[in-house]
Amino acid sequence: MGIPLLDLRAQYQTMKEDIDRAILEVLDTSVFILGPQVKALEKEIAEFCGTKEAVAVGNGTDALMLTLKAMGIGAGDEVITTPFTFFASAETISQVGATPVFADIDPVTLNMDLEQLEKKVTPRTKAVIAVHIFGQMLDVERLMEIAQRYQLKVIEDAAQAIGAEYRGRKAGSIGDAATFSFFPTKNLGAYGDGGMIVSNDAALAAELRMLRFHGCQTKYYHEKIGYNSRLDEIQAAILRVKLRYLDGWNQARREKARIYDEALADMPLILPGRDPQALPVYHLYVLRAPERQALMERLAAAGIASAIYYPLPLHLQKAYSGLGYRQGDFLAAEEACRQALAIPCYPELTLEQQQNIIQTVRNA
Ligand SMILES: *Cc1c(COP(=O)(O)O)cnc(C)c1O
Repeated sequence: MGIPLLDLRAQYQTMKEDIDRAILEVLDTSVFILGPQVKALEKEIAEFCGTKEAVAVGNGTDALMLTLKAMGIGAGDEVITTPFTFFASAETISQVGATPVFADIDPVTLNMDLEQLEKKVTPRTKAVIAVHIFGQMLDVERLMEIAQRYQLKVIEDAAQAIGAEYRGRKAGSIGDAATFSFFPTKNLGAYGDGGMIVSNDAALAAELRMLRFHGCQTKYYHEKIGYNSRLDEIQAAILRVKLRYLDGWNQARREKARIYDEALADMPLILPGRDPQALPVYHLYVLRAPERQALMERLAAAGIASAIYYPLPLHLQKAYSGLGYRQGDFLAAEEACRQALAIPCYPELTLEQQQNIIQTVRNA
């Protein structure tokens, strides 16, 4: 039997009764949109992050796009982000009519290099979308210093980092706002799409509540042009059950990562680079292998899944050919795209499976 990159069926088996009951309860009450489950989840996520506000939306991409909108960012504005992330981190900047500006990554942590960020600030720069890549937070203290100096809004894209910390402060609690994705494969995943924005800014949260619901405060009275982007009650009920397990899962991921770190330390690989101030949640365990293709093939032959994150940096995507970037513009991101490989590192991975993966990597 093979080893997948993530085993959502195994996870479901560990909490099947609770999940099934939560879903049936929603069916019983038959309130499906913006009801008590969403409200309760918002409260629980705000508590979990230590923020005053949380606003549930349709997915993590909308969480970013709506936050940019609510901050009044649009045509003529620039927003800086990393080229080494999922497309949505930049796509949403374009969706609101602003221009994404990329800053290269730090080759150790693969998070945005803050020196490079500072070099990209212009009078048009309004905000930074700071991605905590693979579940390790970037240096948010230095980031906030830079942001204050240039009066930039900070949006933490914490889609991969729910529960992560930086010097004891939770991902999502530091920027002007932060966004989460509940895509099924994220550390806290729904059984469908979902997203959330957290913030300490009550006015921003009120604006987001209007934007997600057709610009309404009161149904059928539209204050502005909005969207339809809501988390549904069934997903919220599922997420409330799963939230109770999240700390344990993140701890289990860290334990698996530690085992890899030790067992592979002497190999000609680059293991995930750690910022000693960061407590990561290993959304993915991404190593870098100069001979990536060969390693992938050896793993596949042994029935072990692996995946490339990410094959192409954002500045070289066809969709962004109009921005005028070229190969060679962001060397660290480009090299990461040539070498990065995620291997299975999920809570239900057994010791035996992990030993099998370690042996296969070592033999390759
Ligand atoms: C998953 C992800 C998103 C988008 O979330 P969706 O819920 O899939 O829309 C945004 N940013 C990052 C870094 C992600 O990993």
